[in-house]
Amino acid sequence: MSRIVIVGAGECGARAAFALREKDFDGGITLIGAEPDLPYERPPLSKEGLAAAAPPKYLADAMRYQEARITVLTNAPVARIDRDEKAVELADGRSVAYDRLLLATGARPRVFPGAPENSERIRMLRTHADALAIRAALAPGRK
Ligand SMILES: Cc1cc2nc3c(=O)[nH]c(=O)nc-3n(C[C@H](O)[C@H](O)[C@H](O)COP(=O)(O)OP(=O)(O)OC[C@H]3O[C@@H](n4cnc5c(N)ncnc54)[C@H](O)[C@@H]3O)c2cc1C
Repeated sequence: MSRIVIVGAGECGARAAFALREKDFDGGITLIGAEPDLPYERPPLSKEGLAAAAPPKYLADAMRYQEARITVLTNAPVARIDRDEKAVELADGRSVAYDRLLLATGARPRVFPGAPENSERIRMLRTHADALAIRAALAPGRK
């Protein structure tokens, strides 16, 4: 049976995984993401995500992935792709074999030359954790 591995558990990766099922793909689907959360929408992070400490707006809950037979690996950055062996190697040493590979690794903010990625005065806003950190810095102690 064919196995598709999707690297990048953002909106693109998650929607691609569900779209495969909607198009009757019956093989294995593994969605691999570096972040600790299931895939979530990023736009709210710069809107309501800064106004209130809420959980991320998930694209689907764990049950929906299970029902769609989509294996989701979170906290699992891919460190290397072995194209000869058709496998991705995770930073923790695990290896996941694929027949087809989809890279949905998104984008990262550019850092100004000389500026640190995160410091007391300069902060990135890309992930749910970033939004929580900014919120905490703006209003320490506020829930
Ligand atoms: C704060 C904020 C506000 C936004 N607001 C809007 C808006 O109002 N309107 C709008 O249209 N767009 C908005 N966007 C942009 C929109 O969120 C992005 O276009 C969208 O998230 C892109 O989805 P993606 O899945 O392609 O990439 P991403 O969301 O970047 O997801 C890629 C995922 O791949 C993971 N990844 C990367 N490398 C690896 C690896 N080696 N191994 C495992 N996983 C990996 C990353 O950790 C990430 O989780 C906003 C973005 C941000 C950050």
